[in-house]
Amino acid sequence: MSACKRLLYVVKHRSLWAQVRRNVTTWSPVGAAFNAKPHRRLDLFEKNGLFGVPELSCPAGFQAAAKTALKNTQRLVEKACSSPPGAETVECFDQLSDGLCKVADLADFIKVAHPDPAFREAAEKTCVDIGTVVEKLNTNVELCKSLKNLLDNPNIVAQLDPDTRRVAELFMFDFEISGIHLDDKLRKEAVGLHVKLLDLNNEFLVGSHMPNRIARSAIPEHLHLHFASEGSFIQVGGLHADSPDDLVREIAYRIYLYPNADLMNCLEELLKCRHKLAKLVGYESYGHRALKGTMAKTPGQCISLTANDFKMMRDMKKKLNPHSEYLLYLFLCSGLSSALYRYNIEPSLYSPYFSLGACMEGLNNLFSQLYGVSLMSEHPSAGEVWSEDVRKLAVVHETEGLLGYIYCDFFHRSDKPHQDCHFTIRGGRWCQETSQYQLPVVVLMLSLPHPSKSAPTLLTPGMMENLFHEMGHAMHSMLGRTRYQHVTGTRCSTDFAEVPSILMEYFATDYRVISQFARHYETGQIFYAVLDQIYHSKPHNRSTTDILKDMQQKFYGLPYTPNTAWQLRFSHLIGYGAKYYSYLMSRAVASMVWKQCFVQDPLNRDMGERYRREMLAHGGAKEPMLMVEGMLQRRPTIEDFVDALVSELNPNFETFIMDSES
Ligand SMILES: [Zn+2]
Repeated sequence: MSACKRLLYVVKHRSLWAQVRRNVTTWSPVGAAFNAKPHRRLDLFEKNGLFGVPELSCPAGFQAAAKTALKNTQRLVEKACSSPPGAETVECFDQLSDGLCKVADLADFIKVAHPDPAFREAAEKTCVDIGTVVEKLNTNVELCKSLKNLLDNPNIVAQLDPDTRRVAELFMFDFEISGIHLDDKLRKEAVGLHVKLLDLNNEFLVGSHMPNRIARSAIPEHLHLHFASEGSFIQVGGLHADSPDDLVREIAYRIYLYPNADLMNCLEELLKCRHKLAKLVGYESYGHRALKGTMAKTPGQCISLTANDFKMMRDMKKKLNPHSEYLLYLFLCSGLSSALYRYNIEPSLYSPYFSLGACMEGLNNLFSQLYGVSLMSEHPSAGEVWSEDVRKLAVVHETEGLLGYIYCDFFHRSDKPHQDCHFTIRGGRWCQETSQYQLPVVVLMLSLPHPSKSAPTLLTPGMMENLFHEMGHAMHSMLGRTRYQHVTGTRCSTDFAEVPSILMEYFATDYRVISQFARHYETGQIFYAVLDQIYHSKPHNRSTTDILKDMQQKFYGLPYTPNTAWQLRFSHLIGYGAKYYSYLMSRAVASMVWKQCFVQDPLNRDMGERYRREMLAHGGAKEPMLMVEGMLQRRPTIEDFVDALVSELNPNFETFIMDSES
């Protein structure tokens, strides 16, 4: 009797232990860090500054940091102007740029992300102050002359290494587009327009992310829970495109896109101002100015998309939707969202397999297999982060050691922009002063739901794809090892910048990658159950055109909805201004790289190493086309680009699934 009782006791405890083990220890530290609710901090008394910058422990610190940076600027300008032309000149320019960027980039992020308005205001003021100084430097004739003396001397130029030469040319380009060649009066006018644009850009960016409000009573009560509420109002901060409920999506669409008159004026003013500036510095339009220096307009390189190629793409686009340029962009963004979504499987079935922790663990596994790099969760010190739920990751290479830091600001806050984004806080560069590499620091911003007491944050395929996309940008920053910060990580030609992130979307939708980490947060089961559903739920006898029609119906079947203004939510207008085609170029390159290098074996280390060596390591220090050529080990033709894009516009889902099976 007593033995029996004891046995029962042991069994009970074992099952309890097994249960605890399943829920807690089956995650790696990274997975666990992202699935747990944040702990209350106990060390609130020691006060460090944001990102470990000592001055930034209070809003007034921004002014102090800016003041120090500006003092150094003066010293470096004098140094650049007085030293003889040589590699030193470029080094000096890069230090100058680094000093200003370190403060301005950090402030650029804090002004949109900090929950405390006093911090946001101080940061915004700093952005404008430093932006104004930068515009003045870009029209500083003496400074420009020091660089011109270098570039005009063929003997000196011949001695520069390729990176240094390219960076020198890029700095010269900044002078040119700022109107350095103009007379005093016109140059002042150009600076004035630049400064005005800084304000307008900022106003538009902030406005484009603002939620719209509507009285609670205007919305059916059972739908209230889908939106954030604010007193007697409902706040709509996004399109809710992932919601399975048609009505929720429709309400979100109509309210979120309802035009705001002030913002409309701001956009018009901004476009006028950009045009005026482009004309002033000698371009036909802002578009012409923006295209200079990208893949499509690089001297000596093969790629120039001709009118005919664009016509082909445009025809394709018109077939999809005759109404709007922007919708093509949307189509491209969402066109590859995961197979699960495509086949209309109820999100509650698969979401438990994609807890945030599982996805982070998946990314960690992927990066360690491809690059020998691990993501290590670190505990930030007090004051280092702007919100308690921000996680800090150290990115560590198996032989090279620490590569940089990624701060993950992943969770929704009411005053945070509803936009997934990668911010460079500090660029990588080789520091001559300290003989050490200045480690890159970035922030990834998402707007995911918080974990609850009973469940971690569960991601829809759309959210997961965005997480992978943004991590693609972050790894571009982390894996780069450029000598100059002016070309660090994502600071490359805009038509190359989206290649690493779009490529990650392919990984996010590949069964061999997903099956490595997708498991139920409660049971630890593998993803096969859901995959099984995809294979069996879909009538395979339908043509791809029919599926495409469905997609169109789902995403674009509706004609323009009265009283909506999608363009006001198109914040890429600011960052990309007239470089919209860049996105197409990036997608074409990512597609070629995926199909040629990774589709056979997405976890191949040799390919991962080649990808890092040929593409990620260089930031903007190498011509994009040379990087693509190095990766593909051949020079792609214009036809390759067009084919890649057309195949993206007409995705063949059966092929995709079959590829994934092999
Ligand atoms: Zn991106």
